Amino acid sequence: KMKGIHKSNNQIQNKPAVSKPSGLNRSNGKFKPPFKVEEPQEPISIGVKNDAKPNTDATDERFKNIDPAMIEAVRNEIMDNSKGITWDDIAGLQHAKKTIQEAVIWPMSRPDIFNGLRAPPKGLLLFGPPGTGKTLIGKCIAGESGATFFNISSSSLTSKWVGDGEKMVRALFAVARVEQPSVIFIDEIDSLLTQRTDGENEASRRIKTEFLVQFDGCGTSSEDRILLIGATNRPGEIDEAARRRFRKKLYIPLPEAEARMSLMNRLLLKQKNSLSPQEIDYIVAKTDGYSGSDIDGLVREAALGPIRRLGSNIMSVSVNDVSPVNLQDFNDALTQIYPMFIKVATDVALQWKIYPFAVI
Ligand code: ADP
Repeated sequence: KMKGIHKSNNQIQNKPAVSKPSGLNRSNGKFKPPFKVEEPQEPISIGVKNDAKPNTDATDERFKNIDPAMIEAVRNEIMDNSKGITWDDIAGLQHAKKTIQEAVIWPMSRPDIFNGLRAPPKGLLLFGPPGTGKTLIGKCIAGESGATFFNISSSSLTSKWVGDGEKMVRALFAVARVEQPSVIFIDEIDSLLTQRTDGENEASRRIKTEFLVQFDGCGTSSEDRILLIGATNRPGEIDEAARRRFRKKLYIPLPEAEARMSLMNRLLLKQKNSLSPQEIDYIVAKTDGYSGSDIDGLVREAALGPIRRLGSNIMSVSVNDVSPVNLQDFNDALTQIYPMFIKVATDVALQWKIYPFAVI
């Protein structure tokens, strides 16, 4: 998740625009012969970030009129260079994975085949309860298609970048264009694209307008390879016109028993435990309604059980003498960790009726 995002400070303001060695760039400055030539295919990098991308910050036309401090902030705080994750890291969601593979990853990886009618969507809307893997999917799409990943939540545009939200949006898309192929993931997109206009302040209205201008501009050049992923648990809050711009909409549900089981087994691999398959079945049954993130929290809480039993011996005990996590630890954890979903259910239940299943 986002960390350390804050309004740009003087330190950043005073920094000169980063000047990196200029290189050639697909849509900028590259010699285009007036006849068709067979260009060698670029290798598709699956799961590997393409480090050989040109970086022409100081001179790039696309950075004209963009505040260098904002470019710097996007690079430092929104561009996510963390280790890519793969489909195997995401439990369940088979339907979403298959759809995304066909509709998004292949087209992003092979723009030469997926053009015209097969052109990839510019926008993908992931909706459903919180903590079900929407951000993971965004990261995975970026990783699998060799794209740069940008991760920002709408609320940081309005609250943390107070007064600069609009500039920030412009800088975000400019960097994404330079670093493409890119995936821009926007969490809580409903609050950015809300349909409520009364009470909407001038600043948020301007951010929304700028965002839609940039979003629409994304696909105007056929060479642009930018995918915008919006995530929300309140799809109904999104302005109808804005919602139409997301050509693909996918419902990301709470994990079924099978997905909860696979998630739990994967997490338990990391910790010595004494659970029998029957006990795991019992916990899986008990966690109906838990999101992936709730399960993660539950297993972490249970893993603390053996430590609590040690009490003050914790300082002297040897690692091998820490007892395995057992069923009682899970029963205790179940009294502590409730599904997050219950807290928001009343809030969103009505809206999901609009999208009872995946809309493809
Ligand atoms: P969302 O974006 O839907 O709110 P995230 O993708 O940020 O949720 O998930 C939060 C955390 O919960 C993840 O980092 C991961 O640990 C766990 N998680 C949620 N869903 C899954 C899943 N389907 N498979 C594996 N882990 C998951």
